[in-house]
Amino acid sequence: MPSCVNVEKCDGCKGKDKTACQYICPNDLMKLDMNMMKAWNQEPEGCWECYSCVKICPQSAIEVRAYADIVPLGGSVVPLRGSDSIMWTVKFRNGKLKRFKFPIRTTPEGSINPYPGAAEPAALDNELLFTEAGKTLPKM
Ligand code: SF4
Ligand code: SF4
Repeated sequence: MPSCVNVEKCDGCKGKDKTACQYICPNDLMKLDMNMMKAWNQEPEGCWECYSCVKICPQSAIEVRAYADIVPLGGSVVPLRGSDSIMWTVKFRNGKLKRFKFPIRTTPEGSINPYPGAAEPAALDNELLFTEAGKTLPKM
């Protein structure tokens, strides 16, 4: 089942250029109604149920209604994102609650430099990857 937005909780990310759910969706599914300042999933059948939008939403306004074999009817899986971990609250059909806290990073936010020491690309039309610097392309 795809993601769906609880319009009572969504604040449209306070009218920023791009909402958090738009930024994170790998399938570019989330849209924002600028008049109502509410987001929605524009193509539910294209949703991978990856939970990225659910985890990033600052208002906890997005749910993925998971398949019954993962979350039986009446159950829910709700993440609450912190700066270094996510608390998952799993509610079972019989009302039983379980909570799991998982770390999501080992470094401070914004501190990662994935390519330390990497030179700027010499030519953007070069087909080589930057890790292949120094190689030559085979002649066609
Ligand atoms: S991230 Fe959450 S609050 Fe922001 S626009 Fe999307 S659903 Fe609304
Ligand atoms: S669950 Fe994943 S694929 Fe579906 S709308 Fe959210 S971010 Fe996009």
